[in-house]
Amino acid sequence: MSADVDADPHLCRHGRPYTSIPLWKDAPAEKWADWRWQLQNCVQSLEMLEQVIHLTPEEREGVLATRSEFQMSITPYLCSLMDPYDPHCPVRMQFVPRGAEMSGVGAGVTDSLGEDAHRVAPGLVHRYPDRVLFLVNNMCASYCRFCTRKRLTGLPNEVLPKQQIEESLSYLRKHPEVRDVLISGGDPFTMSDKNLEYVVSRLREISSIEVIRFGTKMPMFLPMRITDDVVKMLAKYHPVWINTHFNHPKELTAESKAACARIVNAGIPLGNQTVLLRGVNSSPRVVKELMHQLVRNRIRPYYLFQCDNEEGLEHFRTPIETGIEVMESLRGWTSGFAVPTFVVDLPGGGGKAPVSPNYVNALTQSKAMMRNFEGRAFNYPQPTQTDCTVRYEDKWFRAGLDLAAGDVTSRTDPPELTVVSATDESPSGWPLRIADLRGGEPMPEA
Ligand code: SF4
Repeated sequence: MSADVDADPHLCRHGRPYTSIPLWKDAPAEKWADWRWQLQNCVQSLEMLEQVIHLTPEEREGVLATRSEFQMSITPYLCSLMDPYDPHCPVRMQFVPRGAEMSGVGAGVTDSLGEDAHRVAPGLVHRYPDRVLFLVNNMCASYCRFCTRKRLTGLPNEVLPKQQIEESLSYLRKHPEVRDVLISGGDPFTMSDKNLEYVVSRLREISSIEVIRFGTKMPMFLPMRITDDVVKMLAKYHPVWINTHFNHPKELTAESKAACARIVNAGIPLGNQTVLLRGVNSSPRVVKELMHQLVRNRIRPYYLFQCDNEEGLEHFRTPIETGIEVMESLRGWTSGFAVPTFVVDLPGGGGKAPVSPNYVNALTQSKAMMRNFEGRAFNYPQPTQTDCTVRYEDKWFRAGLDLAAGDVTSRTDPPELTVVSATDESPSGWPLRIADLRGGEPMPEA
């Protein structure tokens, strides 16, 4: 790597000026700001990457070993965020392959979410009653080394052929119970505005579809893609929602904040999902700072995902306890809207299961024995009346609100909570010590 980068005096928490990177030192600012130029100049080889960062032996091995397994491609913008000297840089860890990625390849799980089993048309996954996942392409602006869809992304064809999109639209027309379509990929925003509009406008023609959602990482790894034109176009098809994906506060640069502002200013609610990644953001302090930065920028934290148990991702996975510890550090300690839901995507297509610290230690008919975020114990008195029938309910729904099949009427009731004891007595020694509550054992009843 060039001595110019070695001597870089501009390195800051959010990266460095691109002109200090030898590869792009002569690139005009208007080119740098052009998302198509960024896509055309992605770092895809060892030789290019060596001009951006000091590679460790493990990274060098990773770049070479994963070439045939999962493409490396990193936008110049994203490269400018990387710490050239420190392999623990969170951006670097997420996008530069490491040798560990190859462990278990060929013997592990390649569709841990069971999406292929729920595929009802090319690109259409119908797993939940009222919503579908619409995978419209397989190209991303950069490739995350922790990607769950490695089996699909990074393949040569950019967009699903029109015929296949039509098959998905045809399925949706025949399934009015689907009210929410999540458009993902790949990253749908790697498509042209024209192709994006084709998909979104065709979906809007289907009257049973209420909400159109996009999943895109563009605000994070190619904020220039979020142009005024594209958000203006999407705003014609409201309600449109976008979920983006920031994993570390370092990623919230001036450019990415401006991209998010363009989305929100177009009236598009913006959520964020984060994946908990070992060594990248597996720290309560880092996640809390990320959540604070998100809400400061009008981005609602939505999910905190446990990293999937997928081939080549073992080195990224955290114990479930780490996620619970992170949630423990958020709930009560910061604003409720800055607290995402921690979920584990259950293997084999089991769907998302929320996981939370336990605040209810035991239930009796007369009280819930609970603790607060500080660990202090409380008795919450149960009401004496327990009939919760909503007498107006039938009238309300009969009055014309159309309940599609698969809605409230067909839902599966959740399993009942176990009532530890039906007696009305306080446990001896109540309140118990915090350590007892945290131990997770049922509280003894007198
Ligand atoms: S943007 Fe999403 S689909 Fe694309 S590589 Fe990253 S995680 Fe995978």
